[in-house]
Amino acid sequence: MSFTLHGLGVSGGIAIGTAHLISHATLEVAHLTIAPRMVDKEVARFEAALEQVKCELAAMKESTEHAPAEFGAFLDLHRMILDDPELCEVPKALIRERRCNAEWALVQQMEQLVAQFDEFEDPYLRERGQDVRQVVERVIKELAGHVGRTPLRSAKGVKEENLIVVAHDLSPADVIAFKEHHFASFITDVGGATSHTAILGRSMAIPAVLGLHNARQLIRDKETLIIDGTRGVVIVNPDPRVLEEYQLRKSQLELERTKLKRLKSAKTASIDGVEVHLQANIELPSDVPAALEGGAEGVGLFRTEFLFLDRGELPSEDEQFEAYRKVVKGMDGRPVVIRTFDLGADKDLNPEGTLGDRVKTNPALGMRAIRVSLAEPKMFRTQLRAILRASKYGKVKLLIPMLAHAHEIDATLAAVEQAKSSLRGEKVGFDPSIEIGGMIEIPAAALGIGLFLRRLDFLSIGTNDLIQYTLAIDRSDEQVAHLYDPLHPAVLMLIAHTLHSGEKAGIPVSVCGELAGDPNLTRLLLGMGLRTFSMHPAQILEVKSRVLKSDVSEIAPQVRKMLRLEEPAKIREQLERLNGAAV
Ligand code: PEP
Ligand code: MG
Repeated sequence: MSFTLHGLGVSGGIAIGTAHLISHATLEVAHLTIAPRMVDKEVARFEAALEQVKCELAAMKESTEHAPAEFGAFLDLHRMILDDPELCEVPKALIRERRCNAEWALVQQMEQLVAQFDEFEDPYLRERGQDVRQVVERVIKELAGHVGRTPLRSAKGVKEENLIVVAHDLSPADVIAFKEHHFASFITDVGGATSHTAILGRSMAIPAVLGLHNARQLIRDKETLIIDGTRGVVIVNPDPRVLEEYQLRKSQLELERTKLKRLKSAKTASIDGVEVHLQANIELPSDVPAALEGGAEGVGLFRTEFLFLDRGELPSEDEQFEAYRKVVKGMDGRPVVIRTFDLGADKDLNPEGTLGDRVKTNPALGMRAIRVSLAEPKMFRTQLRAILRASKYGKVKLLIPMLAHAHEIDATLAAVEQAKSSLRGEKVGFDPSIEIGGMIEIPAAALGIGLFLRRLDFLSIGTNDLIQYTLAIDRSDEQVAHLYDPLHPAVLMLIAHTLHSGEKAGIPVSVCGELAGDPNLTRLLLGMGLRTFSMHPAQILEVKSRVLKSDVSEIAPQVRKMLRLEEPAKIREQLERLNGAAV
């Protein structure tokens, strides 16, 4: 049966392939023997997990108002499976008889049941074995008590390039692991448009749709999927006519992308000769070839925290130095802005949380980025020394995330001085005049910009967080994704104020948030005075093509008028005019 799901298109393009369902809960569980006195406790743990899953299903049922009708039926079926004594009673008997852990008992029983389903001739009944697995996965996840890394399994007989990963949730560390694979696309039930999971999707230049709510429940392994990452649409089991139409659109898009490649070595300047600099955002040294391929003039943002996110431990100075040097050398004399770790919020080193108690109930407002670095001086010093050492090999700039207070800037500058003097003492080379910049991503920083301009060499506006903190919207939460509005007048005001203040003070200001890579916003940003844009390598040529077709002297007065508007709808209307204008 063919059906369509709608979510947030976070990385454009079209993918056509085979569904590859992955889950947080691995069904390969350990077999543990437990002490006789612990048996009752183990049974109680199993019962508590069952209860929790029942609550989860009930909560999902309540929120199914807008879901396809099939979803309610799935939930009822899963609840029935959960209530079946074969699944809720037999494992308890196994725990008692064999003195084994709950996970193992449950998986043993699941295997038996799935084997029985496999015997059915009727394909519908045979497929219900999948439902048993899904229910068991839920219980196992509950028993594990935390959200772990999502294990990637291989799919027999299908090339990775044809696989579309379907998951309930993917952490940034999960997606980083995808960089070593070649999946066609990924889709998830949760996640916001500027969550780091979405950002990684864009950086891999594969279509991705997040916030689909029930995709992991409704889609079956090996079903054919069409992913339209631009419109946020997923078509499951498309009929042949639809498939053909999308195949055509996919080849058209590929053709357009090939045509854009011709712009790679063209100088980036507007019709009236205003020079613009386009740089790349990267996460790993292995992103450097894509940055060069896209014609990046440098790296405007190297998000260093992603280097080690899936390793679960802090890297040594030498390891960091090697990674930074690789990027610097790879960029061959072009500037490289290395940002110190932005750990915390949705980016932690491992699922159990290396940051431990530091990350509390509201992580986006808690210990994150420079706050963590200043609270962990040893970690900070190690990173600063590694970056300074790499500065000997090219044009490195140091960028500090999430600054809000003057004392944070002062403490950071003091830490850099200390790192420099320790290297000097050891006679280790570095660039003594390395520039130090700050991210403007907290409204307080944009409003109190004077503090920054007096202390730092350059600024970079992180619009992803600036929007999150201005509008009080968690960027990872798909439930409030509709409120994440880059065109909110308050957001535009803060960006314009930062750009204007930087220009007056003679301090360069760039934008490295996702806005910089959105071609629909290129003219708006040009008109606001932005001259340095940093974005995912895959977006550079499209933005360049917009710059080449724009006349800044015509755009600037129109944008000044737009900035006086208070209604986002009016701003949107004017933006359409600005983009449609044949300048
Ligand atoms: C931003 O906040 O806009 C930014 C570039 O940093 P990150 O997305 O890594 O938080
Ligand atoms: Mg940020």
